[in-house]
Amino acid sequence: MKNQEIMEIDLKYNWHPCTQMKDHEFLPLIPIKKAKGVYLEDFEGNRYIDAISSWWVNLFGHSNEYINSKIKEQLEKLEHVIFAGFTHEQAIRLSKRLCKLTGFDKVFYADNGSSAVEIAIKMSFHYWKNKGKVRPLFFSLENSYHGETIGALSVGDVGLYKDTYKEILIKNITIPIPKDKSKEETQKALKKAREVFEKHYKDVSALIIEPLVQCAGYMKMHSPEFIKGLRELCNEFDIHLIADEIAVGFGRTGSMFACEQAHIKPDFMLLSKGLTGGYLPLSVVLTTNEIYSAFYCDYTELKAFLHSHSYTANPLGCAAANATLDIFEKGRWVQEKEKWKLKIDNKGLSILEFNKKTSKYIWDSIQKFKDLPNVKEIRQTGMITAIEMIDYPWQERVGLKVYEYGLKNGVLLRPLGNVIYFMPPYIIQKDEIDKMINTAYEGIKALND
Ligand SMILES: *Cc1c(COP(=O)(O)O)cnc(C)c1O
Repeated sequence: MKNQEIMEIDLKYNWHPCTQMKDHEFLPLIPIKKAKGVYLEDFEGNRYIDAISSWWVNLFGHSNEYINSKIKEQLEKLEHVIFAGFTHEQAIRLSKRLCKLTGFDKVFYADNGSSAVEIAIKMSFHYWKNKGKVRPLFFSLENSYHGETIGALSVGDVGLYKDTYKEILIKNITIPIPKDKSKEETQKALKKAREVFEKHYKDVSALIIEPLVQCAGYMKMHSPEFIKGLRELCNEFDIHLIADEIAVGFGRTGSMFACEQAHIKPDFMLLSKGLTGGYLPLSVVLTTNEIYSAFYCDYTELKAFLHSHSYTANPLGCAAANATLDIFEKGRWVQEKEKWKLKIDNKGLSILEFNKKTSKYIWDSIQKFKDLPNVKEIRQTGMITAIEMIDYPWQERVGLKVYEYGLKNGVLLRPLGNVIYFMPPYIIQKDEIDKMINTAYEGIKALND
């Protein structure tokens, strides 16, 4: 089949996420036949560099041989089993590893990021209720994004997704964020946060944050000191801290988890996206024995957390996650002639060390964007790099123009409004980075023509 044929059948039946479907009257939908490494390939052999890791999920490339083999192995043994009253090898292995990595004690599974957010806010609220306190509100950050289900949207603050549903959302209280990573802005924002805490803390169960980078919120970045300050406020006012590391976990910000850079431990940590290396839907809520024990009692006290999802802790998803953790543990980058290769059980640069090299190379390469008159700011945290253009009227949809330019030239960029960003799989190589960056550069430059 050709691209056109697939597109027509697709548009006859499918309703795609985060899309005004009428756009596809002029915007081609891209049918992908296969993918390898950073490349997606359509049905006519055109290749696209996946500069956004297929919505921030992919870490070690598409069709990664190691992860493929581990999923196949699991598939021959057990595809799925109910996780209430039953368990399996992949889940116990994964939970033990995640707890060791993060310092948490308990793992609650779900199958997507938004569900993990729902679970954390329910658990936090329920914890206080089990302790005899009803605290119906949540604090969240200005410009935050935590997913699309009703509870997750409620604690989010991106108007584009939220405003339409305002009448049916639950109430939450927004805390201002710093404008940038500077000390002054951080201190100013923390001072304002304190005022909000003082006013509302009695009715609040938890503060939910995206540590270091608000990805869906146009890749806004703040300092580790900001989250450290928020942790201190939560301690002082006895409120839980929920760290939503769904997008930033697994090395995206430079450290394995973003909270490490602030040397803090939240009460709940949420992981999804990179958890399975971008293979299968899975998410976890990590928490402490302190939280867990507030639910642990005789059945008749009716304090159990009765939340569930059908596909909780799916064994194939857990196998992909274990394979991903194997690569973090044992994967080493070695240079062979001009090329870098990722090998298991070798001597060489670790994943995070190699990422450091990659992010520096990206940062050095994007300095030239500063010379473009329509670029306002460039910023980077680890493997997340953003280029903010000037404030074009939103109706001009300049991001979409850059997206189209990228596709025509073999790069999948998916700008957020006026912000073009790079969040590639960690296996991206220099020549691919050059192509990704030069294409974005030419795409932004072309807006002036
Ligand atoms: C993507 C995302 C979510 C939602 O995850 P889904 O799997 O898309 O439901 C929640 N929080 C953050 C920070 C995210 O980036």
